[in-house]
Amino acid sequence: MLKDLVNPSTFNVLVGKLEDVLVRAFDKPLGYAVNWGRLWSLWPVHLETACCSLEFGAASGPRYDVERFGIIEAFGSLRQCDLVVVQGTVTRKMAPRLRMIYDQMPDPKYVIAMGACAITGGLYFDSYNVLPGIDGIIPVDVYVPGCPPRPETLIQGCMLLQEKIKRSRFK
Ligand code: SF4
Repeated sequence: MLKDLVNPSTFNVLVGKLEDVLVRAFDKPLGYAVNWGRLWSLWPVHLETACCSLEFGAASGPRYDVERFGIIEAFGSLRQCDLVVVQGTVTRKMAPRLRMIYDQMPDPKYVIAMGACAITGGLYFDSYNVLPGIDGIIPVDVYVPGCPPRPETLIQGCMLLQEKIKRSRFK
């Protein structure tokens, strides 16, 4: 019996099974803990091109104080951020820059499209030079509608994103 266990091929099978058991045992609690850390420390960078950015600024101010929801103020470099909030009209000329910003952020990363302009092109949706929504350039996790959306709507969008992160599978 012992001879069978130390046989290299049997031993490999046993190690493989043990690995399966460990992954199953720790996957859920570990995933929960990591997601919990991520959702309460969202670090946004904001791409502001128009009026919606003022509402984002208001949300960061003392009246709304988004930090109490685990959303850190938008300082830092792109390489530290895990959330990009796109506010305002994005022109076709800006589209490669938006993609470049997204590509510079480390994984896992999330995107919020804030306001009608970022979601559909807004007032300018039929214009030759404005993108009809940023989701053709980068994947959007949450859409925050309005023109402009108020800070409360942005906070609700962030809470929806936090719910999504909480339910996501840990990789
Ligand atoms: S959605 Fe409205 S408020 Fe926001 S950038 Fe466009 S025009 Fe301005």
